[in-house]
Formats: sequence, C-alpha cells, structure tokens
Amino acid sequence: MVFRSTRTLNFKVSLFFVAVFAGLIVVLTTITLFAFRQFSINTATEHLRTATEITRVHLTESMMNGVIDNRQTFLLRLAGIQNLKSARVVRSPILEEQFGKNHKGEHFPDEIEKEVIKTGKSLFKIIESNGEAIFRGTVPYVANSDGNPNCMQCHNAKPGDVLGTVTMTMSIAGLRRDSIATVAGISGVVLIASVVLFILLTYLLKPISNTANDIERAVQDAIDGNFRKEIKKQTNDEIGKIANDMNRLLKFLCNGLDKINNYISQLVDNQQSKHENQLLATIEMVKNMTEISKYKTAIEEDDTKEDIYHRLIETLNAKFFRGQGEFSVYEVSSNSNELHPVPFREDIDEPCCWCHQKILSNPNNCRVFHTAHMVNGLIQPDICFGFKQNADMVDLHDDGNTELMDTQRRYPLCFPILKSGMVGSIVQMVVKKADREHILAVLPYIKVYMADTAPVLEVRRLMETLRESSLRDAMTGLNNRRFLEEYIETLTACARRKQTHIAILMLDLDHFKMINDTYGHDAGDAVLKALAEVIKTTVRASDIVIRYGGEEFMVVLQDTSSAYALNVAEKIRASVESMKISHRGITLHRTVSIGVADFPGDSHTFWQAVKFADVALYHAKEAGRNCITHFTREMWQDNQRY
Ligand code: GH3
Ligand code: MG
Ligand code: MG
Repeated sequence: MVFRSTRTLNFKVSLFFVAVFAGLIVVLTTITLFAFRQFSINTATEHLRTATEITRVHLTESMMNGVIDNRQTFLLRLAGIQNLKSARVVRSPILEEQFGKNHKGEHFPDEIEKEVIKTGKSLFKIIESNGEAIFRGTVPYVANSDGNPNCMQCHNAKPGDVLGTVTMTMSIAGLRRDSIATVAGISGVVLIASVVLFILLTYLLKPISNTANDIERAVQDAIDGNFRKEIKKQTNDEIGKIANDMNRLLKFLCNGLDKINNYISQLVDNQQSKHENQLLATIEMVKNMTEISKYKTAIEEDDTKEDIYHRLIETLNAKFFRGQGEFSVYEVSSNSNELHPVPFREDIDEPCCWCHQKILSNPNNCRVFHTAHMVNGLIQPDICFGFKQNADMVDLHDDGNTELMDTQRRYPLCFPILKSGMVGSIVQMVVKKADREHILAVLPYIKVYMADTAPVLEVRRLMETLRESSLRDAMTGLNNRRFLEEYIETLTACARRKQTHIAILMLDLDHFKMINDTYGHDAGDAVLKALAEVIKTTVRASDIVIRYGGEEFMVVLQDTSSAYALNVAEKIRASVESMKISHRGITLHRTVSIGVADFPGDSHTFWQAVKFADVALYHAKEAGRNCITHFTREMWQDNQRY
C-alpha cells in the first residue's frame, strides 16, 4: 500500500517512455521504408525508362538500317546487363495488321502490354517472383510524323497510334536490402538512444519518486497522528525544497500540538499515550475543555446549590456514565456532627445512600471529610470501610453466606467540596465494574469538572449561609424580623388562596429588665434563650417563631383559628410560667404576657394585624401580666384615644 504510488509513478514513466520509443521506431521505420520504396521505384523507373528509350531508338535505327532481324540478339545482350533481367518487344494490332502476327522470336502481348497499347501510357510496377523483388516497366512506341524518322513513311498508322511496346524487368533486391539495412541501422541507433535516455531519466526521476514515497508515508503517519516522520532531502533542487518545506510543516504541526497538549495538561492531569493518535487526542481534549468551560458558565448562572448539584450530576452522567450512573450528594451539618444526603433532583424521593450509618452519624468517620481529599475506590477498592454494596448485588449461598457477585461490584469515587476551608459537602459516584476502565480513563476530566464546580458551590453555599444568618438571630437561633419581612408576602398570599387564617402572637417577658438589673446581662440572655426554646417546642414545626425585638417574640401560626391560637398562647404562657432557668447557681423564673390578633379576621393587612397583636399585648400587661389577651376593636379605639 505504502509503495503503490511510487511503483505506479515508475511504472507510468517507464510505460510512457517505452510507448514513446516504440512509437518513434515504428514511425521512423515506416517513413524510412516508404521513402526507400519511393526512392527505389523512382530510380528503377528512371533506369527502365532510359533503357527502354535506348532500346526503342536502337530498334528504330535497326529498322531504318534494315537490320531489324537482329533485334532478338540485341535484346538478349541487353538482358545480360547487370541488374537487367529481361527485355522484349511486342507489336500492336496496327503492326500485326500491316506486317502479320508473330514475328520470329516475338512474344504475344500480355495483359500489361495490352493495357499500354490501349492507353498509350507507360506502366511500371513491382512484381514478386520466386521470392525476388522485380521491377517491370512497359513503354509504348507511339507513332509520330514530325520526328526523324517519320513513322508514317513505313507504317500504316496515324500519329499517336501505339505501334508496339518495349518491356524490361530489373531486380531491385539490392535496393531493398540496402533499405532494410538502413532501417535496421536507424532503429538500432534510436533504440540505443532510447535505452540511454531511459536510464538517464530513471536516474533523474529517482529522487522525485523517493521523495514522493517519503511524503506519502509521512502523510499517512500524520493521518495516524504521528507528526515526527522526517523526509530525506535527496537533491538541492525544487524536490529537495519540497522535502524541506514538508519537514518544516510537520515540525510546525508537531510543535503546535505539543504546545496545545502542554497547555491542556496544565488544566487536565491527562498524559497522552504514545499509541494514541496525537491529533484526535488533542481534538478530544480541546472538545472536553470547551464543554467544561460551557458547563462552568452554566453553573455560575444557576440559582441554587441544588441546581448546581443537579447540573453537575446530569452532566457527568450523560458524558461519562452513558446516563446510567449512580450518584449521591452529602452535606455536612453546620455543627459537623452529621452527614445527610441531599435531594439534588425533585424526582427522587430518597437520595441514594451508599454510606454506612456510622459515617452518616459522624462525618469524622468519612475519609473524604477528615482528609479533604478525593477517595478513589477504582484504584483502591477497599479504601472505604463504610461503603455499602446494595443487598440486591449480593449472592445468597445455600449455607446462608453472602458473597458479592463480582460483576455487580461497585466502586466508590468520592470528591470533597470545601466550605470555608472545611469539607462542606461530598459528591459520590458509584462506578460499576464494567465501567471501571472507562471511568479511570476519563477521571482527569471528572476531576476538572469537580475542581471547577467546587469554588462555585463554595461561593453559593457561603452566600446561602450569609443570607440565612442575616435572617436569623444569632443568640436564640430564631428567625428575625427581616425574615418575616421577606416571607410575609408568600405567607399572606397562601392564606388568601386557601382562605385560611393566620394567628399572630406577640409575647413580652414580664419585668425582664429586673433580671438584667439584678443578675446581669448574661442572666438576661440565658432567660431569652430558654424562652426561645420553650416557644419552639410548644408550637408546630410549620409555625414561625421570630425574635421580634429585645425581649419581644412573635409566633405566626398558619391555618389557625383564633380559638386554637388562644390555646397555643395558653400553652406557651403556662410553659414559661413553669420554666426554671439555672444560671450560675441561681434559679430564675419569669412569666410572659401574650397579645393575639387574627389575619385577616382583625385586619386585611398583615402589618396592621401585627400592630393589633401589640395593642392586645399592651392590654395584657395592663391586665396584670402573665396573661393572654385577644385583640378587640375597642382596644384599638382606646389606643387611638391615648
Ligand atoms: P414589662 O413587664 O413592662 O415588659 O417590663 P420590662 O422590664 O420587661 O420592661 P421592658 O420591656 O421595657 O424592658 C426591656 C428590657 O429588655 C430592656 C433591655 O435592657 C432588655 N433587653 C433587650 N434586649 C436584651 C438582650 O438581648 N439581652 C438582655 N439581657 N436584655 C435585653
Ligand atoms: Mg418589652
Ligand atoms: Mg418586658
């Protein structure tokens, strides 16, 4: 295959020259033979014409001198001349009529002679006789009256009548031999010249064909991804320049690809194998990096961290796991004592969980958490003690023992995502045995995806934490007034849509200032924390507890009637009343007053209802504290009055 074009080139050139030289020899031979034939015929014609004229003149003289009877002797002697083979005369019907037929020794006219007698024109032609080439010429005796002698004096003929013919033959074998020898000589010279020319051309063509051969191999290698072939410079002419330029081009491409690979390998920890097609591998790397860049732009624009987890996993699944990957995401709780799976997709009820309970209940047991490094179960399958294989992957033996079915085996691949320098979450990929080799090969790219996702997630999680802390009271852990301001629209819209009521409970500790004044601020804080805890445990999880001001709290009860709200308020009041707070060896007691209002029962605007709850609280204080008051219209009128 590789040598085909060279062979074809040589073959074509050889064929071309053989055809040209063969054609040349044929043309030259034909031309030479034709020229010789024409030359032979012309020469023989002239010779015969002269000889027949001499014969005619001699015979006429013999006739005038009365010695015509000796003409046969003359003709025989004539035939004896070198190259002349025969000479004869025949008479025409005009003479036969005048002198009678068949003069002694005379021939009867043959077909050619009859033709000449009839037309009065000479005929010359070549005849093959016993393998010998003979040239024959037949010339007419034409009667004329103006010559010397005047034919009409002796013959009963008119001027222009043919009186007879002279026919002579001569051998042209010698001429033919000469022409063949000449043709052979010319052909020989042409042949020798051709061979010399052919050898010369082959010598000149050799560097061209060798260079073409090298270039073809180099191009083939380049297509296979190897640009390191060098083309040997054979000559210093254009062919050598082509080899040089080709080497420069290959080197340029090779260096270019090396540079691209170097740049990319700074981003991806992926070394090209020597057997890989360098160009295809580079294209694949650039393609992957482009996709990673697009992915990064997309996650930067995603709203929530769940969206980012979702996109990360969908992208990895589609790109590297043929859509059949198994993934889990775990988040470390804020106090670092729990690892809980994150539902990163809405359509999965329970996020897949491959980790042992020991790990989930104590992140310190997780290798990724305490090392902040990736755990690669593909290389070290038993690295994680807490990675559970699913029950359906375990073969139950007759003796009750279980053994993992080898083909069903899974390997964990866990990546840390940091948050403020600590592991904040962990992305886990569960790789099937059949996919192990493939995932190992693409692992450098998966690492880049993870490395690009981590900072975006970290920023997003920090922002979420920040935002959360701005909506939360640091001391009690309850939501603050800003939280209420943000979510009130949603809450009231929901209540309107469902046509339900929201109860607002406004709480204020009784004589709280005294605690501060008597036992110090720390004691006051302890009371506030205890109160927050009591309120939280008394209401439903869906109810919202807010630290509204210094020692003022608000409870927003959704889907709640006033009667039920009063019940809850009473429960809180009673719980606070019985609450004992130990602080530095002393036990503190406090009571709480509660004002209750109903939205939209008391007001169609939420903030007005809050205000009414506050008015009710004021009335509770007025009523002697440690009690609950529901807002009434009269309270508002009183309030307006003062
Ligand atoms: P009343 O029964 O009328 O409510 O009497 P009170 O003493 O509770 O009076 P008031 O509500 O006016 O007192 C509020 C006090 O709460 C004043 C302030 O020093 C105290 N306080 C507000 N925020 C904090 C806090 O974060 N920590 C502590 N220790 N005290 C606070
Ligand atoms: Mg107060
Ligand atoms: Mg108070």
